[in-house]
Amino acid sequence: MNFELGSKYLSIQQQAREFAQSIEYLAVEADEMSEVHPDLLSALRQSGLSRLVVSAEFSGVSTTLDPVAICVVREILMATSCQADSLFAMQGIGSFALSIGGSEAQKRHWLPKIASAECLPAFALTEPGSGSDLKSITSELVTDGEGLLLNGSKSFISNAGVAAYYIVFARDDDGFSMVLVPADAKGISVTPTPDIIAPHVMGEVVFDQVRMAADARLGAAGDGLNLVLATLGVFRVSVAGAAVGLAQAALEEAVRHTRNRIQFGRPLNRLGPVAQMLADCWTEIEMARLITYRAAHLAGSDSAGNLHYSSMAKLGASEMASRVVDRCVQMMGRFGLIRDSKMGRLYRQARPMRIYEGASEVLRQGIAKKLNEEVQ
Ligand SMILES: Cc1cc2nc3c(=O)[nH]c(=O)nc-3n(C[C@H](O)[C@H](O)[C@H](O)COP(=O)(O)OP(=O)(O)OC[C@H]3O[C@@H](n4cnc5c(N)ncnc54)[C@H](O)[C@@H]3O)c2cc1C
Repeated sequence: MNFELGSKYLSIQQQAREFAQSIEYLAVEADEMSEVHPDLLSALRQSGLSRLVVSAEFSGVSTTLDPVAICVVREILMATSCQADSLFAMQGIGSFALSIGGSEAQKRHWLPKIASAECLPAFALTEPGSGSDLKSITSELVTDGEGLLLNGSKSFISNAGVAAYYIVFARDDDGFSMVLVPADAKGISVTPTPDIIAPHVMGEVVFDQVRMAADARLGAAGDGLNLVLATLGVFRVSVAGAAVGLAQAALEEAVRHTRNRIQFGRPLNRLGPVAQMLADCWTEIEMARLITYRAAHLAGSDSAGNLHYSSMAKLGASEMASRVVDRCVQMMGRFGLIRDSKMGRLYRQARPMRIYEGASEVLRQGIAKKLNEEVQ
């Protein structure tokens, strides 16, 4: 049993660190934007990191995607810039269904452009009336004599407006399908999503009588839910990686601050309760990192069979990140409250992680169900 990252992952971690250092100077600006920061995107392209989310056959790096590698990268990126983390993660989340369900022609056309980050993708499940309850969507795909026709509205869609294509989850006869819609198709309109506390590149997308060829589906008709689950199987755990990175960055800020700030004649970090908070934060981060790497390792061998581990890691790490960053703000007193300070940003950025890719309560339901199946 080995609890250390092997040399392959250390080298990926180093690659991610070099990219993160190269964009650190623009992180404050990028993380306040609801549009893509052009310099950040061109740095991502140069870094080559997006190749990690595409298979080697289509200009990526490995035969199958490696969730551990993706976690390692997100851990580093989230510690520096939320937008950098999101852009990287979306290259995978928005292309995985294409990688496993797309036709040869679709893959050949799009995947090399995802690997190079020349194109950004979007993955559209959520609707104004449907979030956690995915099966309540109303977007509809109809097959007629001319091919496929898509109608529906999608909400809070990352990369909307800048994406080159949308992978859309829609009702299809008795089941659900995924369809790949190029962003320049006639009938697509995008409006801004209301600004959220941690700005994010996203939008509201309407598909009004969007016409596509019959082969625009990913996989067969009715494969939609399986493609969603497969995507979550690989990428849900990567949110845990990002949460660990965020918490680590918050703790390091708090350590530096409490070491240098003197109150009552001593550095803050020597005052009992502050020292205890620091110790609790470090302990919780280390625990979350362990389950994250283990869940990512399991997802690499059987992502569907181990989805409950990915859910546990995502639940544990995102809840931990919120607790840790809240304590770090407390330790820094008024200096932790400054809006655009590193701590102020991390505090806001921790919050959405407990909602997207499975809200904590929804994850608990699934984990408890699995537990009841496991225990005789
Ligand atoms: C920054 C950001 C980026 C996003 N990007 C995308 C994207 O690219 N593509 C996309 O499709 N969507 C995206 N989303 C939407 C996201 O997937 C949804 O917000 C998420 O699925 C939760 O749905 P909801 O917000 O409608 O909450 P609801 O489903 O309305 O749930 C609200 C709350 O009710 C509780 N709850 C709901 N169901 C249950 C249950 N079964 N058991 C117990 N409690 C429950 C939970 O506390 C939950 O937080 C994004 C969201 C954010 C914040």
